[in-house]
Amino acid sequence: MASAQTDDDMFDEFLAQRGHETGAAGWEESYNKKQCPDCGGLHASDATECSVCGWSPV
Ligand SMILES: [Zn+2]
Repeated sequence: MASAQTDDDMFDEFLAQRGHETGAAGWEESYNKKQCPDCGGLHASDATECSVCGWSPV
């Protein structure tokens, strides 16, 4: 029975990770901010490129 709890947790985590892919092309999303997939820097939702490393979605 204990294993069922573990399976649910893993499935929730899987969905959460997939959910990060649904935003603007290329950007990760975290707490209503865009996160650079290259350096992990956080930016406002209207950012078009990373001000930390210069990455931008193409
Ligand atoms: Zn960056």
